[in-house]
Amino acid sequence: MSDCSGTLHPQAREGLRLFNAGEYFEAHEALEDAWNAETGEAKNLYRGVLQIAVAYLHLTRGNYRGAVKVYERSKKWLNGLPDICKGVRVRQLRNDAEKAIGEVQRLGAERIAEFDPAFLKPIHWKEEKHVYICDRCGSEMVERNCKVTCPNCGNRFDCSDLNIYFD
Ligand SMILES: [Zn+2]
Repeated sequence: MSDCSGTLHPQAREGLRLFNAGEYFEAHEALEDAWNAETGEAKNLYRGVLQIAVAYLHLTRGNYRGAVKVYERSKKWLNGLPDICKGVRVRQLRNDAEKAIGEVQRLGAERIAEFDPAFLKPIHWKEEKHVYICDRCGSEMVERNCKVTCPNCGNRFDCSDLNIYFD
């Protein structure tokens, strides 16, 4: 079973926040903490995102060779992951990074200063929500404002009663 389910390490969450704020060096440090703390598939997620952060850091500093090299390295970790891992849109990130590096390669080392930072997209991520399965009919239930409703049979409960269904 993939351990891409479940929640992100707190330092990974911080790393993604920093990444999306364009603080690539700080993002790299936070993701490194998460990487050190984790085992299994999540380790590859954190390492891959970390290397994209470093590649982008190189880009913002006009380091052509560094950016291309670290980007190539990141593929080893990110390409083996599902499209979404722990709520992180991995495929979207891979596509965005590929476009950014493609643009860099189009410009070449001499014209790297012309690189448009608009190519450095934020990472899309969302904590995975709990999936509620109706205990009467087995359908997936819908949660809104703490009311959990079954679209199939109308079964409903309040999220504060969850311990009745999930113990
Ligand atoms: Zn139902």
